[in-house]
Amino acid sequence: MEQLFQPTTYQLQSVHSHKIFDDSGWLLEAPGETQPGLIRAVYQKQQLVTGDERLGLYKFSDWLPVRRMLKGSSAPVTYRSESLAKYLGLTNLYITYSGWWPEKGGQMPSCSFKETEAYAVCGRMTADMQQKVLVVASAGNTARAFAGVCSENQIPLLLCVPEDNLDALWFDSPLNACVKLVCTPKGSDYFDAIHLSNIICGFEGFYAEGGAKNVARRDGMGTTMLSATTFIGRIPDFYFQAVGSGTGAIAAWEANLRLIADGRFGNHKMQLMISQNAPFQPIYEAWKASSRAMLPYDDAEARQHVEEIDAKVLSNRKPPYPIIGGLFDAMMDAGGDVLLVDNEAARSAAALFEALEGSDIHPAAAVAVASLIQAVQAGRVPEHSTVMLNITGGGEARYKAEHQLTYLTPDLILPADTPTEKIRQKVEQLKW
Ligand SMILES: *Cc1c(COP(=O)(O)O)cnc(C)c1O
Repeated sequence: MEQLFQPTTYQLQSVHSHKIFDDSGWLLEAPGETQPGLIRAVYQKQQLVTGDERLGLYKFSDWLPVRRMLKGSSAPVTYRSESLAKYLGLTNLYITYSGWWPEKGGQMPSCSFKETEAYAVCGRMTADMQQKVLVVASAGNTARAFAGVCSENQIPLLLCVPEDNLDALWFDSPLNACVKLVCTPKGSDYFDAIHLSNIICGFEGFYAEGGAKNVARRDGMGTTMLSATTFIGRIPDFYFQAVGSGTGAIAAWEANLRLIADGRFGNHKMQLMISQNAPFQPIYEAWKASSRAMLPYDDAEARQHVEEIDAKVLSNRKPPYPIIGGLFDAMMDAGGDVLLVDNEAARSAAALFEALEGSDIHPAAAVAVASLIQAVQAGRVPEHSTVMLNITGGGEARYKAEHQLTYLTPDLILPADTPTEKIRQKVEQLKW
């Protein structure tokens, strides 16, 4: 296997200044630039050559900023829909699936496209970084994906998760002790877990994953678009995805730009049809107000909205929307819209998808399906257009039914308002 894998050659570029520089290891920003903006990987190979299926996600490593190949990965799969396509009256509907659906080739045990991110981010690490501890805050899918990848590959990891979300941390076997879990107490939420993780990242020996600023995260998620385009043979006309941070949509747009430069898949940009789970809709509000800045969002109201929505993974209050090269720029460049889907519409879309296509899907993916139904009903999607529906998570119910599950338990419980010195003391007692 190892000899099948060849790390690609790449540099990094500031989207703002277009300056190009080398990746010193874990750069999240352009050195010396004060304007906050995303950086992008620039790959030496302009044409994508997909590798052997046995490489898993790394079959796309020409366009992944990774130095090594980790064990256990798999790539998103794309297939042409028949039943849902017929129901919607579309002739070219393609479904890109990340999750557990062995018959279709869906082999992601954490059941979401966060696994593509985890394999790309951890593959970017240099050997010396493994002396330090990666810190990831999450309410669910991201934590499960990183826990699985780090456990299997012996990478030191500290997860920060609200105690109320422990039921999201299920696995088919006990994890390696290199994965530690710190919880914020019952009644706290994702925002508290993020706060705690930010404090811990300030300590010697710990480092942040970086979120949307990490080129590996974005290009890992962008493999959904690479999967779709290489399968279809052309760049799609429409891209449907439910978003919380919008990183997946930024990644799909960046992959689109690379595929245009590749030259074999067309030179158009697909419209980004992204969706949020109403009433949690900060990206919708900013987009409809034609505002690059996020609009004010009252803290109590935001927490209330998070309570209400089914798709909790979509509840990001600080998305990389305003940042140069972020979601606002992607939408302005590619075109598209933000659609709203309530719980009820998402639930019936999930039931419809399962009945027609044959897989249970994540509530967030159900939001995307409902948004496609809505757009088709509104006459916004021409019958013969090529549509990519990004099923960002699925097969969880099935995976759980087919496997004996164990749950990760906290190594520490720390309120987010614990004094920094106390947090340091407690965290330093954890032994990796
Ligand atoms: C995280 C997540 C999303 C949202 O992804 P972003 O592109 O980061 O907004 C959608 N669906 C599932 C299943 C997710 O886990």
